[in-house]
Amino acid sequence: MLTLALSKGRIFEETLPLLAAAGIEVTEDPEKTRKLILATNQPDVRVVLVRATDVPTYVQHGGADLGVAGKDVLIEHAAENEGAGGLYQPLDLQIAKCRMSVATRADFDYEAAVKQGSRIRVATKYVAVARQHFADKGVHVDLIKLYGSMELAPLTGLADAIVDLVSTGSTLKANKLVEVERIMDISSRLVVNQAALKLKRERIRSLIAAFSGAMSSNS
Ligand code: ATP
Ligand code: MG
Repeated sequence: MLTLALSKGRIFEETLPLLAAAGIEVTEDPEKTRKLILATNQPDVRVVLVRATDVPTYVQHGGADLGVAGKDVLIEHAAENEGAGGLYQPLDLQIAKCRMSVATRADFDYEAAVKQGSRIRVATKYVAVARQHFADKGVHVDLIKLYGSMELAPLTGLADAIVDLVSTGSTLKANKLVEVERIMDISSRLVVNQAALKLKRERIRSLIAAFSGAMSSNS
């Protein structure tokens, strides 16, 4: 049995064409069922639905053989789990693309605050990325960990800035925030449990080959 961990939403949707290229069709719609384990057209392949942030945990500890997770999630997971040994990342799938950025209220002068060496209060779900970014810039920050709705933090006075994912920028715009700095580009990667890679070598290798073939034929 090969178990693939996916999160509902964009990662699930954008992984489907890659699975199709490997001859795998998920036979149930995650938006229409309450099931957390989905069958596929291949009796030895199943998909488990987990929260995006739980994908690396499932794969690292063998709850799933493989998974698809954003670079954002993988960096934070590695920081919280001492490097997350046993998680192999063979392929950047180039899906769920976005960027990680710093955003503030339009009336907050970020450049001036940085130049003056002010202490900046930054709210984010991505504390590891944020800590590293501001340390590299030599900017002093107070990091405030949030689990969602980061846009609210500068609007309520909780923070001066946020570090969040941006794709079109429409969520920032709707909340009157501006992107003041890009930190890194984000895409989702295939992650594989190291023990599974040894035990199910051929099965996993052919899946990786099919995925990368589907990607190059897309570009
Ligand atoms: P949840 O919504 O369950 O709290 P989540 O917000 O992390 O979890 P998604 O919004 O589905 O889950 O995001 C999953 C992954 O997709 C993220 O880890 C990131 O890599 C990527 N992603 C997030 N937002 C965007 C976006 N606006 N555009 C493209 N990719 C994104
Ligand atoms: Mg989300």
